[in-house]
Amino acid sequence: MATKYKEKLIGFECTTCKRITYYSKKNKKTIKEKLQLSKFCKFCKKHTPHKETKVK
Ligand SMILES: [Zn+2]
Repeated sequence: MATKYKEKLIGFECTTCKRITYYSKKNKKTIKEKLQLSKFCKFCKKHTPHKETKVK
């Protein structure tokens, strides 16, 4: 049985400085909604909301 996981590389963009500070993988079949997380941004030097963005 061939199982293909459609895992997609995504980035987390800081909503303050608009820079991608984290990378992750997402299974599009299990998670459909856009993710938003509070993460530490090394550029802003504080916790900021990060939103999911596409990575090429
Ligand atoms: Zn930032």
